[in-house]
Amino acid sequence: MQVPPVAPFADTTALRRQVIDTCFLMRDRLGYFISTWGNMSVRVEEGLLLTPTRVEYEDLTPEDLCVVSLDGRQVKGTRTPTSETEMHRQILRARPDLGALIHSHSTWASTCACAQRAIPVLIDDMAMVVGGEVRCSRYVPAGRHKELAAAVCEALGDEAWAVLIANHGVIAGGRTLEEAVICCQFVEKAARIFIQAEAIGGVRPIPEELWREERHHYLFKYGKTEDLKDVLKAAPAER
Ligand SMILES: [Zn+2]
Repeated sequence: MQVPPVAPFADTTALRRQVIDTCFLMRDRLGYFISTWGNMSVRVEEGLLLTPTRVEYEDLTPEDLCVVSLDGRQVKGTRTPTSETEMHRQILRARPDLGALIHSHSTWASTCACAQRAIPVLIDDMAMVVGGEVRCSRYVPAGRHKELAAAVCEALGDEAWAVLIANHGVIAGGRTLEEAVICCQFVEKAARIFIQAEAIGGVRPIPEELWREERHHYLFKYGKTEDLKDVLKAAPAER
């Protein structure tokens, strides 16, 4: 399924604030980040805008965010970017259809990552927003940045918006940061449903041709009036 490339942000002023707000959302409202253990990136004109490593969110200012070029040079910010920069960089370079990524160690997705079990397409919201099976990478110890990033990129492939990182966590994305947050939530929910469904007799995944239809619908029709043209009656003629 050909998805158009995402245009990078030119002006990052409001975006920087949004990234900080999203850090709080992931930590305090969703509970997917513990302390500063989690990170995110957004595609910008100069490369990727990234959260810095080990700065408490209460202390984080818009200027603390870093920009790293797609070929791996830090071009803005005096802080050190997240230790998982290479994973973000390799994915955004390989996947022009993604504009933002969030990496977390959320519990249910991490459970599947520790069992090294891919999450099949099992529920409609996942089919629409995640756009495919959430595969699991092979295990690479944290700290081997390039090798880990390559393993994660390979498992992600060129369609799904999320992938499990073996014995570590998950990385999920979208065209925008808002969409990446929703993708994280649907992956976490799907992981939980997967584990629970396996306990009551086993998952019955959605057949591929049907989840692909749902994915196409979400990407190209969802939220548009045209989507309801077979449902909504024409308005009565004005008298
Ligand atoms: Zn991590």
